[in-house]
Amino acid sequence: MQQLKDCLDRIAGKGYKAYKQLAGSYRFSTFRLTFDHVQGDPYALPSRISIWVEAAQHGLAVELSSNPVRQTALEDFLARAVDRSIRQHVRGQRGTGHSGEVRIATSGQQVLRRNAVLIERSGIEARLLLALPADGRSLRVEDARQMLFEELPRVVDEALLYQGQDLSPLFRHVEQVEDQDWLRGWLSEVQAVAFVADHSLLPRRSGVDDRPLAGGVAFSAPDSLRCRTTLPHGGEISGMLIPRGVTLIVGGGFHGKSTLLQALEYGVYNHRPADGRELVVTTAGAVKIRAEDHRAIHQVDISPFIGTLPGNRSTTCFSTENASGSTSQAANIIEALECGADCLLIDEDTSATNFMIRDRRMQQLVSSEQEPITPLLHRVRELYEREGVSSIIVTGGSGDYLAVADRVILMDNYRPYDVSDKAAALAGEPPSLSASGSALHVVHKRSFDPGRFDARRDDGKLRIDVREGRLIDYGRHRIDLSRVEQLVDQGQTEAIGRLLEYSIRCYADHPDGLVGALRQALADVEKQGLDILFPWKVGHLVLPRLYELVAAANRLRAEV
Ligand code: ADP
Ligand code: MG
Repeated sequence: MQQLKDCLDRIAGKGYKAYKQLAGSYRFSTFRLTFDHVQGDPYALPSRISIWVEAAQHGLAVELSSNPVRQTALEDFLARAVDRSIRQHVRGQRGTGHSGEVRIATSGQQVLRRNAVLIERSGIEARLLLALPADGRSLRVEDARQMLFEELPRVVDEALLYQGQDLSPLFRHVEQVEDQDWLRGWLSEVQAVAFVADHSLLPRRSGVDDRPLAGGVAFSAPDSLRCRTTLPHGGEISGMLIPRGVTLIVGGGFHGKSTLLQALEYGVYNHRPADGRELVVTTAGAVKIRAEDHRAIHQVDISPFIGTLPGNRSTTCFSTENASGSTSQAANIIEALECGADCLLIDEDTSATNFMIRDRRMQQLVSSEQEPITPLLHRVRELYEREGVSSIIVTGGSGDYLAVADRVILMDNYRPYDVSDKAAALAGEPPSLSASGSALHVVHKRSFDPGRFDARRDDGKLRIDVREGRLIDYGRHRIDLSRVEQLVDQGQTEAIGRLLEYSIRCYADHPDGLVGALRQALADVEKQGLDILFPWKVGHLVLPRLYELVAAANRLRAEV
């Protein structure tokens, strides 16, 4: 600490570059502060620092992180605590640019595995960004002293030191997250794909604010679908169980159908307590499927849904730089199946109509030889019965689906009702597949062409930059993930870009092709940590799912 003080004294009055002399590690009374990277000027990315607290100092019980789920939950708790303390104790902007700001990466409503706070047996490390203060190019050493010797120790003391303190809030957080994870695992035991607990609050404040809507109508399961279970920590709960098979969510406009489906989309992640959706869980292999016109498609066999196209163009190995609504939705399904999805989540709001249905009169007007599309309606039962892939489909517009559903949930004034019996009485015959009636087949292995995933620019330098949260500039390519809806954090996009590059470096000749290589890369990160993706210490990465990682590979587009 004295060395750091001396160093600051020495550089007072000098140019910004003098801050570089801070690089190194300093022992404070309760922690160690390390400057991992010092920024070159006040407009550059902030300096990267890390704080290390020995196990003997932090006072956190080992049971708080005794398995991977608990560890992620505790890391999440600590990162949020650091973030709160920074807001409270760090004055923030002082000087030019971001001067004086301190930040840590934290999750929104989900609890995600990230590398901002890492717990090891010997201690905990928190990784922060700290913008060393300056006016133009002249240092504000007094402000730096205040940040490093007053504000930062206060943050550490409040957020990372628990000696002699009540640990029950930490245990509550960890146990609630562990309960969610248990509940998701329980789904497969009871042959179900989703569960929505009674009293859950599904609606969000707004389209850009993911926090719960105050005053929203709480969820209450219909009696016929209500199921009870006992959580490891939270005791008995009840709620709506959605078994495997084909489930429809119907109802009038604005009655809460899409809100329910969105909660199910995010049910693959754990949520922070009091989110409202912390007991809404979906099988880990649930994938949102939507139309995504204009996306790029590379060598996908979409023939189960899209037959021969105009100009006698085959679709068994289909590529395009500009997909239509229906071809994009078909590719999205095939690609999800390729990575082992076991439940498709589909909302008519974001689907291509001609991919969903073709009614009788239209079949009469447009002959099957003229129409390449086999609508999902004709495949959805086959998907379940042959491939074991369930579907949850929101539809307010087409009654044709009633004939292929195992159950029908009606949303009325934000409350679910089981209308399966009434629907069955109305359904009539299942639609006949008059058109190109070939059986569904899914290719599970696609070749991997590592050359496509070269992350270098023309000048040979590596470029993996994330913009606007969901766009990756990857070498000479562009990847647009803006309509991959289950991506929830920019840190996932950052990790995905790195994972692509890692997979060609390490698994270019994987016997299971593209998906095999990416699955192996992800397994490495799960085992060894996100840090293997970066040559230096960073704190902004988040573990993605396999589906979103593969989705990125599938959307690689040569730069225009
Ligand atoms: P639908 O898909 O049936 O047309 P949405 O799910 O889009 O309806 O919901 C319509 C509106 O109602 C949205 O603004 C949503 O936030 C709100 N909403 C949804 N569920 C609830 C609820 N349980 N309580 C209060 N408002 C809700
Ligand atoms: Mg809707």
